[in-house]
Amino acid sequence: MDTPPSILFATAEMAPWVKTGGLGDVAAALPAALRRAGHDVRVLLPFYPALQQAFPAAEPLVALPPLAPALPASRLLAAESDGLPLLLLDCPALYQRPGNPYLAADGHDWPDNASRFGLLSRVAALLGQAVSPLAWHPDIVHANDWQTALAPAWLHYEGGAASIVTVHNIAFQGCFAESARAALGLPAAAWRFDGVEYHGQLSFLKAGLQLATLISTVSPTYAREIQDEAFGYGLSPLLRHRRHQLRGILNGIDSKIWNPAADPALAAPYAANRLAAKRTNKAALQRAMGLAENAERPLFGVISRLTEQKGLDLLLTIGDGIPHLPAQLAVLGSGDRTMEAGFLALAERHPGQIAVSLKFDESLAHRIEAGADCFLMPSRFEPCGLNQMYSLRYGTPPLVQATGGLADTVVDVSETTLADRTANGFVMADGSAHALWLAMQRAAANWYDRRLWQRIQQNGMRRDFSWSHAAAEYGQLYRDALAAPH
Ligand code: ADP
Repeated sequence: MDTPPSILFATAEMAPWVKTGGLGDVAAALPAALRRAGHDVRVLLPFYPALQQAFPAAEPLVALPPLAPALPASRLLAAESDGLPLLLLDCPALYQRPGNPYLAADGHDWPDNASRFGLLSRVAALLGQAVSPLAWHPDIVHANDWQTALAPAWLHYEGGAASIVTVHNIAFQGCFAESARAALGLPAAAWRFDGVEYHGQLSFLKAGLQLATLISTVSPTYAREIQDEAFGYGLSPLLRHRRHQLRGILNGIDSKIWNPAADPALAAPYAANRLAAKRTNKAALQRAMGLAENAERPLFGVISRLTEQKGLDLLLTIGDGIPHLPAQLAVLGSGDRTMEAGFLALAERHPGQIAVSLKFDESLAHRIEAGADCFLMPSRFEPCGLNQMYSLRYGTPPLVQATGGLADTVVDVSETTLADRTANGFVMADGSAHALWLAMQRAAANWYDRRLWQRIQQNGMRRDFSWSHAAAEYGQLYRDALAAPH
């Protein structure tokens, strides 16, 4: 077999050091999986304070001169994380800042984000060009989200490696004033509707979607949805135009951290063929959250950012009915203040039956996945979604809206899907609170049939959500990009 393409994976986040969302997790898992599949992969990311702490002995590689009026001198350092090579872009004037990578302490964007991620994109492109100061030359520059999506623009205008841009969330597009074009050193010829210009602004993401060799996003259904006005945040016409270059690849999950058979957070480990111990986890969760310790009613679980996207306002609408199903509800989440207050009030009205914890708590997240009977995720949109996959792995059938990665992973229980053993959860008929209520009623009714429920659980637990699966699909995407005109 021929050598797998070599990849420069450019990212603004990488768990566990810098993470604000799905991108951080993907950057931690996908390059490692690609490396296991034989690709020579190097990850380029800013040398943020968290990385300086993690890699104090990072080795200086090359100094880079100022690359444009707004792109100051920088340098690249090399480090290794579990054998995975990291290229750390050091520019203290841009990256030596505490906290969130995009926002200042006052919650506003850093005013120089165009330079901060312009430099990251520029260096990603440079490393894919013949003039790169490194001896290593990647076949593919893989950009992720708006922060690196300008890299394909330079590769397009100046030549170099083939490029991929992956959309993890299309809502964030990196738009800046027109003056940023010259400040970042993009050619004047790029200021076109089919270049980097977007409604009179410079849009990093639009530039990448327009000019990358191929585009991907994190689930097949989201790849179709973002071509639709309702999901595309203005970019759907462009995505429709490039639909033959657009592909959806479902993220994997970290099956070491999310493994009910060996999860240190759980009261009792269990597996698909040892499901009885799940009951111990339910009782432990009920005690921990102040719910009545009752094995005879289904317990619904939620772990989520509390935002409009996640559709949890629908749950608030019907929440008072839950104890009458009868069922219990355990919610872990934080976010929107009105929604937080709504859930607190709901729990106060139903002590012992509905419990709410407004914090971020990894351990409790694991215990809810293990202790709940059914996981609620009525998201309005969900590029991929992780919690429904964790739930499937934990034998906690998810109940979801048919959108994005939820539609690609959750198979509604029906006669047909039970017969072909794909049934693994519950899908709402539409996006209304009423549809959520009906699906919860259906889940509760199914739960009382223990043998049926066990079949649904086992169908979900059998599915393979490993990163090696995703890495193989990215491998094909890279080969296709090399074969495509660019
Ligand atoms: P999104 O990235 O849109 O928030 P995902 O389902 O893709 O949604 O990922 C959410 C991740 O964040 C999961 O790992 C989930 O367990 C975790 N999470 C969300 N809220 C909390 C919380 N309050 N406490 C612990 N983990 C949480």
